Amino acid sequence: MKRTPQVVPQAGLPSRVTIYEVGPRDGLQNEQAILPVDVKAEFIHRLVGAGLEAIEVTSLVHPRWVPQLADAEDLLAAVDLGAAARMPVLVPNERGLDRALAAGVREIAIFGSATQTFARRNLNRSLDEQYAMFAPVVSRARAEGLAVRGYLSMCFGDPWEGDVAVDQVVSAGRRLFGLGCSELSLGDTIGVATPGHVEAVLGGFIAAGLTMSQLAVHFHDTYGQALSNALTAIRLGVTTFDASAGGLGGCPYAESATGNLATEDLVWQLHGLGIDTGVDLERLVETSAWMAGKIGKAPVSRVATALT
Ligand code: MG
Repeated sequence: MKRTPQVVPQAGLPSRVTIYEVGPRDGLQNEQAILPVDVKAEFIHRLVGAGLEAIEVTSLVHPRWVPQLADAEDLLAAVDLGAAARMPVLVPNERGLDRALAAGVREIAIFGSATQTFARRNLNRSLDEQYAMFAPVVSRARAEGLAVRGYLSMCFGDPWEGDVAVDQVVSAGRRLFGLGCSELSLGDTIGVATPGHVEAVLGGFIAAGLTMSQLAVHFHDTYGQALSNALTAIRLGVTTFDASAGGLGGCPYAESATGNLATEDLVWQLHGLGIDTGVDLERLVETSAWMAGKIGKAPVSRVATALT
């Protein structure tokens, strides 16, 4: 029997949300296996076939930093960039933007930090210097008609600094919007957030005059909190959720196999709530199981484990 959750809607929730699939980029970047370009292209096309409407394809960072994604140009040539509504590519700097434009990319993402220490460690910049680095990337991208997503990492805790103040996160997010970002993804990079904390951070953005339609949330399941946090965000009006097929990508700053919220686990919850995602759960689980075979380990998602 094909198993799906019994649909029991709750009042006050949206009828439709967008899942922003990060498996091909964030997921594979944090797996040890280095896959051939044709496998990555097939992964992306299978995700499109499963109904994902926003799929982050790859990252145009220098190949030395992320060898798993060193084939970015070849992958972009092998993928139909019109296959899903949004097929963004992560871009670290102006050189990356040049490469994205040459490859015909229509949406980019930049990756900023809410904390000083992570800005230093990840970008070799201070908090202020990161905005100066992003400013020409965002303004040129917007002038070329590209949409720009801003990632803000360490919004709920930092492995070196510990707690991160809500005001600091809101102020960093406003700086990224000020540069011209069209969407901001709030990252719980180390997976430590809990529902009250999510409510406090989103409340900070609401108090600053931002609308929930401008925000996305990027939760990690390192401490088992990702779905509770996602439900909290749905109830507060967020409609864009980052997730990774099969839970690909361990937690980069913790000794844990469980990092990114698994797309199929999120889809199970959303469909049970009667919220449309456009995703065919069965085809998604097939894709996650297929990819797990390619990287040589079992999917960490609960739904894929239960259904395969
Ligand atoms: Mg992630």
